[in-house]
Amino acid sequence: MSLLDSALVRLLPAVPKPVVQLFSSRYIAGSTLVEAVECVRELNAGGAMATVDVLGEEITREEETRAITQAYRDVFDAIDEASLDSNVSVKLTALGLELSYDLCRENLLEVVSAAAGYGNFVRIDMEDSSATDATLRLYRELREDGHDNVGVVLQARLRRTLDDVHALADLQPSVRLCKGIYLEPGTIAFTEYEAVRANFVRCLDALLEARCYVGVATHDEWLIGESLARISQRGLGPLEYELQMLLGVREERREELVTEGHRLRVYVPFGEHWYGYSVRRLQENPAMAGTIAKATAGRVLRLGSG
Ligand SMILES: Cc1cc2nc3c(=O)[nH]c(=O)nc-3n(C[C@H](O)[C@H](O)[C@H](O)COP(=O)(O)OP(=O)(O)OC[C@H]3O[C@@H](n4cnc5c(N)ncnc54)[C@H](O)[C@@H]3O)c2cc1C
Repeated sequence: MSLLDSALVRLLPAVPKPVVQLFSSRYIAGSTLVEAVECVRELNAGGAMATVDVLGEEITREEETRAITQAYRDVFDAIDEASLDSNVSVKLTALGLELSYDLCRENLLEVVSAAAGYGNFVRIDMEDSSATDATLRLYRELREDGHDNVGVVLQARLRRTLDDVHALADLQPSVRLCKGIYLEPGTIAFTEYEAVRANFVRCLDALLEARCYVGVATHDEWLIGESLARISQRGLGPLEYELQMLLGVREERREELVTEGHRLRVYVPFGEHWYGYSVRRLQENPAMAGTIAKATAGRVLRLGSG
């Protein structure tokens, strides 16, 4: 990314919301469950699985966390009704982690139990490093209470992750392995691109060694190749791992991987709280910052002349 692009990326939070919405629409299924169902139906028709995320990161009140929990119940009903091939992904802050651990636990348990009623599965997304300990603790509590239809996410960016893999190994967890979107300080995170990649591979090796089911979540071609080579070296069958990608990212490559016979799951976010997710996706898009800057300048000029 050029210096100019990096500067623009830092300025994205100052870009007017309508502009952010315009450019981020490819990353989000829509604001309603009906739109999410339609999106998953299309993905399934193309041979991909899905995981549905109810966007709810900016919530601050208990009632809102209850509403998100109910929204997940509605998602399971809809998945069942339309016979979709999809599980769900939840963010613990949307279920109240920053309000109270017990409230979050109660909400998560409700989502996980609803999933179990349909024989479905819940993936707990990983948020910034302030939430890592609580997320892993809650995950362990659920598993030790016998809830097996739940998985977690680990971030290769964090220095602690290899230790977390070893600490979780007794649970033989289902893990989504990703680089990690939240930029963390060098004291706790790898900050160089190649170091994050190297740690991804180290963590993947440790997860496969521990016979964990891994969702390899990356669009990085080098990492896709390394991961598939390792999976093949271990002789894993098509049902023993999956690839994961975000909606709206590298769609042609996604289709190729499906055609090659890999199980591939697409992350499908929907809902009213689209803003935080959208800004993060746009900040990662190498080609987007400059385009947005131009669109924003155009809008500001039009406003100025109107
Ligand atoms: C299914 C899934 C779930 C995830 N869940 C979490 C989570 O719970 N917690 C968390 O911290 N992170 C999560 N992430 C995000 C992840 O950590 C990375 O931030 C993100 O995937 C980008 O890293 P990358 O491995 O794709 O590599 P990058 O090096 O960032 O990207 C590789 C290439 O992919 C393309 N690309 C990547 N992003 C975009 C984009 N937004 N728009 C257009 N092209 C793009 C570009 O061609 C880029 O060169 C998830 C990612 C996926 C795929």
